[in-house]
Amino acid sequence: MKLTFEQSAAGRQGVKLPASDVPVKVVLAAKYVRANAAPLPEMSELDVVRHFTRLSQRNFSVDANFYPLGSCTMKYNPKFTEKLAGLSGFADLHPLLPQLRGGEKYAQGALEVIYECERWLCEITGMKAYTMQPLAGAHGELTGIMLMAAYHKAKGNTNKKFIIVPDSAHGTNPASAAVAGYSIISVPSDKRGVMDLAKLKAVLTPEVAGLMMTCPDTHGVFNPQIDEISRLIHSVDGIMYYDGANLNAILGRARPGDLGFDVVHLNLHKTFATPHGGGGPGSGPVGVTEKLEPFLPISRVVKRADGVLALDYNHADSIGYIASFYGAFGIILRAYAYMLILGREGLKQTADHAVLNANYLLHKLKGHYQVAFDRVCMHECLFSASKQLERGVHAIDIAKFLIDRNIHPPTVYFPLTVKEAIMVEPTETESRETLDEFAAAMIEAAELAQKDPEVFHFLPRTMPISRPDETKAAREVKVNFFA
Ligand SMILES: *Cc1c(COP(=O)(O)O)cnc(C)c1O
Repeated sequence: MKLTFEQSAAGRQGVKLPASDVPVKVVLAAKYVRANAAPLPEMSELDVVRHFTRLSQRNFSVDANFYPLGSCTMKYNPKFTEKLAGLSGFADLHPLLPQLRGGEKYAQGALEVIYECERWLCEITGMKAYTMQPLAGAHGELTGIMLMAAYHKAKGNTNKKFIIVPDSAHGTNPASAAVAGYSIISVPSDKRGVMDLAKLKAVLTPEVAGLMMTCPDTHGVFNPQIDEISRLIHSVDGIMYYDGANLNAILGRARPGDLGFDVVHLNLHKTFATPHGGGGPGSGPVGVTEKLEPFLPISRVVKRADGVLALDYNHADSIGYIASFYGAFGIILRAYAYMLILGREGLKQTADHAVLNANYLLHKLKGHYQVAFDRVCMHECLFSASKQLERGVHAIDIAKFLIDRNIHPPTVYFPLTVKEAIMVEPTETESRETLDEFAAAMIEAAELAQKDPEVFHFLPRTMPISRPDETKAAREVKVNFFA
């Protein structure tokens, strides 16, 4: 496909502007005026429309393709939430309005959305209070670890230096803990795929500030020893941090608070329906139990005695501001609408179907790919392309094969604990037919790897770019045609 500048033909025009009926007068100082006119492509309207329409179709999206990207929960996002987020009463509300004297009465609806969403998330996760402000999962993690640090400081726990993370952790976990000033202790997983309890005990000292983990973890396995882990961490006055990016697996069925966690971040853009990807927008609210509540960021939405909702900045022990205004309001609104429409039973079904779908695929693909942990999985199932590697076919080659079938590849090479990892998260919104189609494509890839492994080096064939240098593409982004 040609870029717009390459399609340019001198003199070709899309629109013809009327002659100016006001005197032309240059008001800018000469030093700000370009010597030469900016080079713009000269194209007809039809060519422009085709160019941008084609570009939009080059996008892989949940709306167009199956997107089983593990650890990402790329579910279908219902369109009614988009409509609600566009309502003028929400979308056009000025964020400073509730901060003006008397202004909050004009923002009661928006404040109610934040307040009620917080209440629902408390109920779902077994927490006492939430801050809705963090703007991504990783931002929530940093906020949570700052809350943990504030707790230890207030208690005079001056010896706290370490945060424990399992070796299967999402990369943001150790990164967030390190940014907050802690050193990391990584604990390996046992052969069932969960944190090795004996190895945890061996590194547990009074210098441990807390532990960060997901449950189910990034192996797609629920940790049956979570009670014992909580007890151990609490025995040294450590804080249990729950990375809730995998909440889709247990939504309405188990609550992090009941499992012993003290602080939780959720990814509204994973579990609670928001178009996800492309770098944002996201929302990573953080919930806490009673002992961490005094440290929550400001502002907080409170209900005054007269029933009016207001912003409260008056918290002496707060860690302060972590985002401008109130977080990603449009995402919070979508999440709230999504919870209301599904209700208690619908939310439970979300988790049930997500887990069922993952197990269905695990079962179908078991005979064709090495399974990382041979047991019932939660919302995602983890394979290894180790059998295919014997024929010289890597996980990335399987991924490229799927692209030609119009399927977004699963996550590959993560978690790092599994060689040639292929991590599949179908989510609850996929039909049995779609799952069958995916399984058939995966089986075909496995068979091809045995028969004709060389073919994989030339895949995908249907895309404008086949095998980009991914490191270079990420590090040396070219956004200017003329640069
Ligand atoms: C996605 C994810 C995160 C980070 O969330 P972002 O919104 O991308 O910052 C953290 N932990 C796990 C397990 C995740 O899957």
